[in-house]
Order: sequence, then structure tokens, then C-alpha cells
Amino acid sequence: MRASNYTIATLKETPVDTEVISHQLMLRAGLIRKLASGIYTWLPVGLRVLHKVEHIIRQEMDASGAQEVMLPLVQPAELWIESGRWQQYDEGLLLKFQDRHQRDFCFGPTHEEVITDLARTELRSHKQLPVNYYQIQTKFRDEIRPRFGVLRAREFLMKDAYSFHATQQSLEETYQIMHDTYSRILQRMQLDFRVVQADSGSIGGSSSMEFHVLAESGEDTIAFSNESNFAANIEMAATLAPPAETEKPVAIKPVAIKEVATPGVKTIAELVALLKISEKKTIKTLIAKAEDGGLVALVLRGDHQLNHLKAEKLPQVASPFALASEDEIKQALGCGTGSIGPVGLKMPILADHSAAALHNFTAGANQTGIHLANVNWDRDASITRVCDLRYLVEGDPSPDGQGIIQLKKGIEVGHIFQLGDKYSQAMDARVLDDQGKAILMKMGCYGMGVSRLVAAIIEQHHDDHGIIWPHTVAPFTLSLIPVNAHQSEDVSKTTEQLYQQLLESNFDVLLDNRPALRPGVKFADAELLGIPHRVIIGDKGLKRGMVEYTCRRTGATQDVSADEIFAFLSATI
Ligand code: ATP
Ligand code: MG
Repeated sequence: MRASNYTIATLKETPVDTEVISHQLMLRAGLIRKLASGIYTWLPVGLRVLHKVEHIIRQEMDASGAQEVMLPLVQPAELWIESGRWQQYDEGLLLKFQDRHQRDFCFGPTHEEVITDLARTELRSHKQLPVNYYQIQTKFRDEIRPRFGVLRAREFLMKDAYSFHATQQSLEETYQIMHDTYSRILQRMQLDFRVVQADSGSIGGSSSMEFHVLAESGEDTIAFSNESNFAANIEMAATLAPPAETEKPVAIKPVAIKEVATPGVKTIAELVALLKISEKKTIKTLIAKAEDGGLVALVLRGDHQLNHLKAEKLPQVASPFALASEDEIKQALGCGTGSIGPVGLKMPILADHSAAALHNFTAGANQTGIHLANVNWDRDASITRVCDLRYLVEGDPSPDGQGIIQLKKGIEVGHIFQLGDKYSQAMDARVLDDQGKAILMKMGCYGMGVSRLVAAIIEQHHDDHGIIWPHTVAPFTLSLIPVNAHQSEDVSKTTEQLYQQLLESNFDVLLDNRPALRPGVKFADAELLGIPHRVIIGDKGLKRGMVEYTCRRTGATQDVSADEIFAFLSATI
């Protein structure tokens, strides 16, 4: 391709109004342009990357035995009414409209309904199963907060696949194949990712896993072990009980409890600053609404945070979760929120494992401005139930018993589900089994964010000068930059010759033939665009018979003989 044919004349000047690095770089490098909130145009260079990403996904999906189809973007309401999702699909994400006959339709946010309808009409016998259909198709979701460019768009490209099975075992086999396929796809894009249990299905094993690319701009926090392949969404991750750093009870002698004055202290930070003690030797007591309409105390170690998703799953705690108001606390305990503690508390006490493992700790005295030091469970207060109430923190032992927990932000790029018969039941999708009986098909579904992946790759592959594409997805593998070609016949001839030779050998090469630009601007643009290899052809070098080669990732530059540059590139790329 010749750069003069591309809309990349004004790269550096493109205005950006975002903190997110991948979005900044996609705008500046001329990959995308915004049309409306969450709706983007893909420009030529961006589209080349998108196609490369699609190509890898297609190759791996085909190799897994899946078959490509293309389902309609526009879907009739009837199917969604049948599945029960026309009214309740994810809080308004469904964009609905009517045709000229006042019939209801939506833009597909996902395709379970359409594919189940296809399967129930096309598939007759268990002998046709298993089958896995996939497509790479535009989705529309009317996201409440579209942001970060194509990372969370309203119109975006997804690879979605749906598998059909006669047995649970067959579903599990395909689920595993998709797990492996997704891992290979992300490896080929050189992504550092974690496979995260999204729920811990009741029969052991997981029926849903998310694939997260680790990046600062991620919207989820992923907890993972530094030794095993344990990884979980922090919302879900269990904590080990008791944590490794807990003191051994045999070594501890209970000390007499005593009151300490803590005037004005409202937080754990203020408490430890005043008394010069460790957060880890304090507890905090939160009062929440109980399931029976009363109140319940939730006790955590001072340095830990309540995970209310865990709390509301406990039978004693009201769901949805709600903390008691300051007035309710004043009425029930007679003190402010900064002075609550378990001693003398007349309500059930649910204690997190780490809080329950403490001895001689400091807690509120249920009197404003007073705390108790050297509190001990059993002697001074009793726990109704020891449970898992908190978020994992860095340094916790990994819940699988291997290694230490680290936390990182993650971008969800893929999600695989065992749906079971959820949709086949609702839409009566059956095949005949070997006895001639009509059985419900079991289903799996497997989503991957194709356009989101382009941004996720940039999040992990860039530096201060721009994008650094992994060669598998680069829009071009090589850029050729002639210096002042209009003034030197030698330069223009050598460049044109090399360019033709590279094209004939199927190199993805970008020739930066933009005449009006200074060489420095072209070099900077090549770096911004992230093209892995660069060759500069200038008069000075040619006089010595040399051209200059630079590797984008390492920045290493070397002179290569003009006669040998083609052979050099063939060997290097
Ligand atoms: P999220 O939690 O990020 O909203 P989701 O769980 O709703 O995603 P799925 O229904 O699992 O998404 O869709 C499959 C994949 O499609 C996701 O893993 C993600 O990579 C991609 N995706 C979903 N929503 C968007 C979006 N608004 N913009 C870009 N990609 C998206
Ligand atoms: Mg998901």
C-alpha cells in the first residue's frame, strides 16, 4: 500500500479526549473515528488489523471443528418473546424498532434465539450432533455507559459460537475444546491473559469462564496466584481460612481487656494512628439489615474490605444488601458508626475468618469516643458464625492452596458458557435420541470481542511513541520510507524496485510516499502506527550502498547493504 492513498496525513494532530491509552492511540494512528456515542468507523489501517484478528479467530475456530455461518443482524421480536427475554434482557441493552407493518424487531445484541430457532428446524437426530456454529458479526447493545472507544462500544464486532449436544458429556467436551481454542487465539495475539472462573457451578467444575487480558484500563479486578493457574474475578474469589499470617493460638496469652479513650476517632486509619497499633490487630464492625427485618453485625479485620455480594448470600443477611443507617445504629446501640464493637452487642455476629482468628485485638466499645483493647473471642464476645465476608487482597494465600495472590485489572475479551437446556427448553428445540424419543438439546455458547481485542492488544503492546503490533496482527509488517525521493532518482528507483519485489513476495508493505512531509514526521508516524519493521532509504546511505533497518520493538537500528536488504528482510520477517 502507498501511504499517500491512506487517510493518515494528520496523525499527530488528531484530537484525543480520553485517558485510555488504546483509545488515544487508535485515534491518533488513524485506526478509527467516532460517529456517535459508542459507534465507530474503521479506517483502512484499523480495518487491516481487525481483519488480521478475525483471520486468527477463523483459523482456530475452523480447526476446532466449528462451522461458520452468518445470522441476521435484525431479529424479530417473536423469538425474544418465546425465550422470555424481550422484556428483561439486561436492562435496556436491546435496541428495538418497528418495520413499516408495525412489527417489532431488535438489533441483535447476541444470537441465542436465532441460532436455537435454526437448530430446531434443521437438526432432527442425535446423529447430527454435536455441532458448533460460529459467526463474526456486528452486535448492537445500547450500553448505559459506552466508553473507552471500541473497548465498550454500542456497535461492535463479536465472534459468537453456539454448540448443540445430545448429552452433557458431549457439551463438556466442546466446552473444553473452546477453552483451548480461545487460549490459542489469545496466545497467537501475544496477549498476557488469565482464564477466570465466572461462577463456581454447584456440581463442581465451572459452567462459565471469562478470558481476561491484563491491563490498567480493565473494568474488572482479577485475583490470581503467582504459582498456580488459579484466577478469579475479585467479586467471586473465595478467601482461605484462616490466612497464613494468623498467629498460632498456643503462642498467645489473653491479656486483661481495657478501655481506651479515642475521642473523635471514626475510622480504622484514625484509630491506628492514635494508638500506634497495626491495622491487622483491629477489627471493624458493620451493622447491616438482617433477613428477618432486624440487624446483624458483620465483623472484619481492620485492613479488610467487606464484599457485600458474599454477605448477601448468607442466610442471616438481607438481600439485596443494605447497611443500617446512622439513625438505626444510634437507636439500637446508642453510639456512632466509628465506635461499634462486638462486646455486649445484642444481635447475631457474623465474623470473617481472619477477624475470627484474632487475639488481644482492639474494637469499638459501643460508646462514642471509646475503644476496647485486648478483646478476645469467647471470653469477651461470641461469634454466631464464622464465614467468608471480604475481598481478597494482594499477599493473601491463593484459595487453591498454591502461591500468593496478586491483583490486576482485566479486560474481558471472551466468555464461554455451558447453557444446558435453558434456550432449548424455552424454544422447544429437540432431536430424536437412539430410542426415537424427542430429547432437548444441550447448548453451549462462546463469545469473543473481536473489535475489543484490537484495543486490548494495544493496551499490552505500546510505548511512549505509539503502538508496537505483534507481527501476527500488524496492519503492515514493514514500512519503506524513502528520504527526499523527489530530489534523488537513486532513492526513488531503489525504493520502487524494493517495493515491487516485496509486493511480489507477498509482504504486507507500506510505502510512505507522502511527498510533502519531512522525514522526521514519517519516522514518527511509522512508530505511532506500530509497524514491526522499517527500512529507510536515503541518498547519503545509498552513496555507501547502504539502507537503514530498524526493529520497532527493540529500537535496534543497523545498516544493511542495499543489494542484500531483500534477502535480509526475507530472513528477518
Ligand atoms: P461486559 O461484561 O464487558 O459487558 P458481557 O459479559 O456483557 O461483557 P458477553 O455477553 O459475554 O459480554 O459477550 C461476549 C464478548 O463480547 C465479551 O467477552 C466482550 O469481549 C465482548 N463485548 C461485550 N460487550 C461489548 C461492548 N459493549 N463493546 C465491545 N465488546 C463487547
Ligand atoms: Mg461476559
